[in-house]
Amino acid sequence: MKKRLVILGATGSIGESTLRVVEAHPDRFEVVGLAAGRDAVGLRALAQKWQVKHLALSAENDEGIPSGVDALCELASLPEADIVVMAIAGIAGYAPTMAAIRAGHDIALATKEVLVMAGDEVMALRAEKGVRILPLDSEHSAIFQCLQSMATMPACVRPHHADPTTFAETRIAEVILTASGGPFFKQADLDWGKVSVASALNHPRWSMGPKVTIDSATMMNKGLEMIEALHLFHLDPKQLRVWVHPQSIVHSFVQFKDTALIAQLAQPDMALPIQYALTWPDRALHAPVPEMTLAQMQNLEFAEPDLNRFPCLKLVFEALPRGSWTHPILTLANEVAVKAFLAEQISAAAIAPIIEAGLSRGPQSFEEILAHAEEDVVRWA
Ligand code: MG
Repeated sequence: MKKRLVILGATGSIGESTLRVVEAHPDRFEVVGLAAGRDAVGLRALAQKWQVKHLALSAENDEGIPSGVDALCELASLPEADIVVMAIAGIAGYAPTMAAIRAGHDIALATKEVLVMAGDEVMALRAEKGVRILPLDSEHSAIFQCLQSMATMPACVRPHHADPTTFAETRIAEVILTASGGPFFKQADLDWGKVSVASALNHPRWSMGPKVTIDSATMMNKGLEMIEALHLFHLDPKQLRVWVHPQSIVHSFVQFKDTALIAQLAQPDMALPIQYALTWPDRALHAPVPEMTLAQMQNLEFAEPDLNRFPCLKLVFEALPRGSWTHPILTLANEVAVKAFLAEQISAAAIAPIIEAGLSRGPQSFEEILAHAEEDVVRWA
C-alpha cells in the first residue's frame, strides 16, 4: 500500500526535494495534502500537477485556499495521511506539528525550531501518542542511521516500554555533527563587522533559504542542530561535538563507548535523508541522487571549529549545560538578529552580542525574549 504524505512547506527547497523523492517512487508514495507559506500560485500549480485536493496556506490569498494556523493544523491532521513532512520555516511549524502528533501521524521533521523551542513538550506528546519523529535534517538523519547499528531504536521512534539500560544513547560516547563551515571558514582575516549580506548568502555547498544560510555562515545553524539532536536522541550536552568538514560528504558520526566510530556518507543532496525518513525502516532500491564516487573520497578534511572566530557557536556550547531554558533564547534572539542583519539594520558582528544579552537575562517567556531582542537590535543599529 502506498504511504500517504502531507507536505507542509511544499513550495520551499525541502518540499521540492520531497516531491523529487515521490516522483522517483510512484509505487511507494502518494501526496494527499500540500501547504505553503505565501506562494498561492506556486501551491496551486503543485496541486494541479500532483492532483491534490487538500491545500492550506499560512497567508491570506486570492486563490481561495484555506489560510492561517487553523488551516495548517487541519491539513496536518488530515485523517487519510500516514506521515506529515514538516518543512514550514521557523516557529510557525510548531502548532501544525502538535496537531499532526495529536492526530496520531508520524512526522518527518525538517523544521528544527519545533524541537529547539519546544522539544520537551513535543517529545513527551510523541511518546504519549506513540508517534514517530523521523529526522530530515541531513546531520540528524546521519546520526539516526548510525544509531541503527545498535539493536535498539533511536529515542525519537521508540515505543515507551523498552528497558532503558539497553538504549542506544547509553552506548554513545560522542555524537559528532559535521558542518561545512559556511563561506567564511577559510577566510583568514574574517571580520564580522565587514561581512556583507550578499557574501553571507553565498553558501559553498547547500542551497537553502536566506535565514538558514546566514545561520550556516555564523555556524549558529550547527548550534540549533545540537539542540535538535539533544531532543531527538535523548543526549546530554556533554556528548555533543562539532567538526568542520568542508566537503559535506560525511553527514555526521556517532562514536560509541567501545571506540567504534560510525559515519554516514552521501552526496550533499536533501533527497536522500528525506527518502530515508519516508521509507524507514526500509531502504529503497534507488534514490534520485548521484552515486558517490571514489574521487570524492580522496580529500575529506575534518577540523575542530575555532570558537573564537564563530562566537554564535561558542555561545551555544556555553549555554547548553545551563539547561533547556536557554534553547528558546538561543533561537529567538538569533532569529530577530538575523532578520535585522538581512534588512541591513545591524552588522553581522552584532548577532552574537544580541544572543549573549538574551542569555544574560535568564529564563524568560517567548514574548519577553522577542521584545528584548528587538530592543537590542535598536541598540546595535
Ligand atoms: Mg543540517
